[in-house]
Amino acid sequence: MLRLQGINAIIAVIAVFTLLHLAFVPDQHTLRTTFSTLLGGISFLLMTCSVILATRLEVFEEMFGGLDRMYQVHRVAGTFTAVFALVHFFSIPKELPAGVDPVLNSTFPSAQIGMASMVLLVIGLFVALNRKISYSRWRNPHKVMALVYILVIGHFMNAPGIFFERLSASGLVLILAALVGTVALIYTMFGMNKRTATRFTIETVNSLERATEVVLKPVGDMLKFKPGQFAFVEVQGKGWSEPHPFTISSAPNEDRLRFTMKVLGDWTRKVREELKPGGEVIVRGPYGRFDASKTASKQQVWIAGGIGLTPFLSKLRAMEENDDREIHFAYAARSKEEAIFLDELQEIAAQRDNVTLYPLFSDEGDFARVDAAKERLPGQLTDYEYFVCGPKPMVDGLMKDLKREGVKRKTIHVEAFEFR
Ligand SMILES: Cc1cc2nc3c(=O)[nH]c(=O)nc-3n(C[C@H](O)[C@H](O)[C@H](O)COP(=O)(O)OP(=O)(O)OC[C@H]3O[C@@H](n4cnc5c(N)ncnc54)[C@H](O)[C@@H]3O)c2cc1C
Repeated sequence: MLRLQGINAIIAVIAVFTLLHLAFVPDQHTLRTTFSTLLGGISFLLMTCSVILATRLEVFEEMFGGLDRMYQVHRVAGTFTAVFALVHFFSIPKELPAGVDPVLNSTFPSAQIGMASMVLLVIGLFVALNRKISYSRWRNPHKVMALVYILVIGHFMNAPGIFFERLSASGLVLILAALVGTVALIYTMFGMNKRTATRFTIETVNSLERATEVVLKPVGDMLKFKPGQFAFVEVQGKGWSEPHPFTISSAPNEDRLRFTMKVLGDWTRKVREELKPGGEVIVRGPYGRFDASKTASKQQVWIAGGIGLTPFLSKLRAMEENDDREIHFAYAARSKEEAIFLDELQEIAAQRDNVTLYPLFSDEGDFARVDAAKERLPGQLTDYEYFVCGPKPMVDGLMKDLKREGVKRKTIHVEAFEFR
């Protein structure tokens, strides 16, 4: 669930900048210049937020409620960056503010840099939001945004208004943000990957129904993670392209790391068809906050749709003997044949008094819906805390219906298997 701490921090920074900007308006600025530079400044602050969130640092996961939420905020901040930059561009007066020396100004190509960065920003946004452009095609061009960020710093540091006022209070906020953003950028480009990498060798590759289980043996120390967390898997070797995120389906105390990957596109198909034992894999992580162990309620409903099983698989495999939660676990699949690990789940449920398993097969008319929960759960729907992972239509439907039944949003935890 998105935590408000991070959003509040962003709002606070923008509010401070706005107050300082409006409180110290230079005499020679018109209302239009003030408004336009304000939007330009906010646009830069939002872009800095996007840059900082791309560092994937744990402290920000805490503030925003997980890496998937951070990327959602990153995307929204990026969209507003472009919108505000466009309004800034079209509203900034074309004539220089009074008191600015045109000769001195012409030595700094601020407007040209601003124009170039805005064009790249808008193209970048179009590519990022266009779902028809595949993730792998989008990923490398998206790195151009680092250059855009540096260009934007060049733009405002040389802009006539800011140039003469950069020691103004709001100008100082922008300079501070530029410093933090540049450090974040350098860390993301050169430090992040080294810090989060753990090496593994591939032990086995098991073909399941429409999915592949990859079992990894650590080369050195085992990766430390909590059940429900995910990591980026990067196969070493030619033609394997970028790292892909997968939830760890093994338990933290196992001596092997297991991922269960649904065959969806080129990369996951290649895993199934070409990945061989003995190869090397780098795992980066762990990330995520889909944690059912520290919740207010001991009565929990877990709902998995298809491959959304993986975080629950890890939680069940890791469950301690004395676990005192009451867990109702609905596992929805298209058919019994497609319900991977069903035998293991049934075995765990049979051994444990606190876990009740409800397999739901849509070919038999059973779906992961609220009416199914109402029929099966003892007590009221509002007595429980919910953990949901599965296809978007299933998750959206459940959220809507649970809220209609009076279940509070903060008691519904969702893991989204997508960043964009
Ligand atoms: C937090 C998280 C946990 C996940 N856990 C699992 C899991 O346990 N099991 C499982 O089967 N799937 C999981 N996924 C989904 C998995 O990452 C994608 O299905 C996989 O990357 C698809 O790659 P592809 O090239 O085969 O398919 P494509 O058809 O190319 O991609 C399908 C979709 O996957 C996403 N995607 C593709 N490549 C990447 C990438 N490099 N980084 C981020 N997203 C990408 C995009 O949204 C894309 O639209 C998880 C995703 C996230 C974000």
